[in-house]
Amino acid sequence: MCGSDLFLQRGGFVGAPMPIVPGHEAAGTIDELGAGVTDLKVGDQAALYYIEAPSDSRFARLGRANIGPDVRRMGVDVDGAFAEYVVRPARTVIVPPETVDPVVLAVLTDAVATPYHALVRIAKLQAGETLVVLGVGGVGSNAVQIGSLLGARVIAVGRSARKLELASQLGADVVLVNGPDIEDAIRLATDGEGPDVVIQCAGSGVLDELAIRIAGWLGRIVLVGTSTESFQAQASSFVWRELTLMGSRGFLQEDIREVLDLYVAGKLATDHLTQNLRPLHEANEALEDLALGRVLRTVLLP
Ligand SMILES: [Zn+2]
Repeated sequence: MCGSDLFLQRGGFVGAPMPIVPGHEAAGTIDELGAGVTDLKVGDQAALYYIEAPSDSRFARLGRANIGPDVRRMGVDVDGAFAEYVVRPARTVIVPPETVDPVVLAVLTDAVATPYHALVRIAKLQAGETLVVLGVGGVGSNAVQIGSLLGARVIAVGRSARKLELASQLGADVVLVNGPDIEDAIRLATDGEGPDVVIQCAGSGVLDELAIRIAGWLGRIVLVGTSTESFQAQASSFVWRELTLMGSRGFLQEDIREVLDLYVAGKLATDHLTQNLRPLHEANEALEDLALGRVLRTVLLP
């Protein structure tokens, strides 16, 4: 269960057919194969990539199968994985390099792959750069650990002391409580220059504006938190500082594979994502927990 499921519930995915079975962040075991599938076998563990795109789309040819007018998203455009069984194209199935706890496998496919895509492929975060993470939730907490893994100096900004404590455990060098003085605090923590990269993980127009205001010279701002709220910015901000504003949409199969390799190598923490388990029929309660900020993630067990 992910923030995008709340976004779906609130009508954020305009044009999505309703009713739809949600669930785009999932793992399981292969129960049956379609005719002609030879590279998978029954009983294999499977992480699911939620997007299918025509292989001849020009975006897929560019290596960006997550983008384009013809992508079909499991749990948004077609029925998803809040279910005992789900039918998926074989090419969207990823068999992990070794057996992984299925609960962990599920959260690696999105909660970790999303900030990985945003920081590695979109923002191209480099070792030695300063990264500000706005919002320490299901995605932001993992932006902290991936930023740290990439060798960046990580400043986490959040509202709750408990989540900032988690950010520290996951490798944040500085944690700051979001309050009226947050811009000054970030400036102070970056020697007055502002960060090289800001990743905005909370769905909030106010934080989108903050992200643009705090970015340093040549700063890259990457928006991950899906918000439908408008925000304002001045062209002069972008011109004087030569800022780049980027959106990051989900992730690629390659991101899941690379995240899996990092996990198997012991480089990723997942305990913070797998503490809340519920049976599938408590999906509504799990959505409410997420809406109220009580949990970073709940994993539903069919
Ligand atoms: Zn998601």
